[in-house]
Amino acid sequence: MSHIAFIGLGNMGAGMAARQVGAGHRVLAFDLNPVALAAAVNAGCLAAESAAHAVTGADVIITMLPAGAHVHEVYAHAVVPFATQGALAIDCSTIDPADARSVATMAGDAGLRAADAPVSGGTAAASAGTLAFMVGCDDGDFGAVEQALSPMARAIVHTGASGSGQAAKICNNMLLAISMIGVSEAFVLADHLGLDRQKFFDVASQSSGQCWSLTSYCPVPGPVPDSPANRDYAPGFAGAMMLKDLKLAASAGAGVVANPLGQEALRLYQAFVDGGGADTDFSGIVSLLSAASGRAKAG
Ligand code: NAD
Repeated sequence: MSHIAFIGLGNMGAGMAARQVGAGHRVLAFDLNPVALAAAVNAGCLAAESAAHAVTGADVIITMLPAGAHVHEVYAHAVVPFATQGALAIDCSTIDPADARSVATMAGDAGLRAADAPVSGGTAAASAGTLAFMVGCDDGDFGAVEQALSPMARAIVHTGASGSGQAAKICNNMLLAISMIGVSEAFVLADHLGLDRQKFFDVASQSSGQCWSLTSYCPVPGPVPDSPANRDYAPGFAGAMMLKDLKLAASAGAGVVANPLGQEALRLYQAFVDGGGADTDFSGIVSLLSAASGRAKAG
């Protein structure tokens, strides 16, 4: 049994921390939001009074926080000053690769073993322990990281040195945004052509248009019963989070990489968030495209 500090118990962290409890570990959890902390206690975690309290004496420290600024703050004020030498510090949040390298250096200088290990898969995968992890860390630390992540994972890939997990993650999520927009556009056109949505799904899910955004996370209600479209687009993965990831991709490639579809996805998700979609699941982008089509028709 390991002593795990788990910091950040939101949409993703809640299910992930519960998986560690289920694997028999002692999980001392902390979140600034008392409601999130209470839910983690219900799932079997022990409540820490602060992030510093959670990390004190932990063998493994897992953070699942909104963005780079939160990770920096928790590392600077809790992990680095209070963690035990040699502890494994694994950040699973999605942040900029440069930020990941900087917190890993901070942790390494304090005698910790650091890894960036962002995830693919939504809240259902977090609760089921079927996330895909992409891990940036020293070769010698990967075995320990893999063991620590295994109760939460269906796949764990060592992508290379520190920061490489985040690099893989932002490339994946740029692809995801583009594919979700593509699937949504196809449904909007299918509607316009009078095609039954289920019939279109039955065809595309077995044809060359098949992809995860269609078959696991379908943006219209009906064909995939547990996709957010069937619960009024409650996240899941919020529009604001997807916009954050597209900004990370744009900034990572700025001035060097031509990514016209990534740029267009960023523009569309910015419009989605500006139109009230920040806390709506990112698959709700279909409503923006549908409304834009209505305007085009009216014009
Ligand atoms: P969330 O906003 O639901 O949860 C983040 C939690 O962190 C919140 O409960 C918040 O109170 C807590 N928090 C913020 N600052 C804190 C601090 N200083 N100390 C302690 N707690 C603090 O976000 P989420 O959807 O769980 O996503 C977390 C990360 O995972 C993000 O980086 C996101 O991009 C990434 N991610 C999310 C999904 C998804 O489907 N939701 C999928 C893959 C990756």
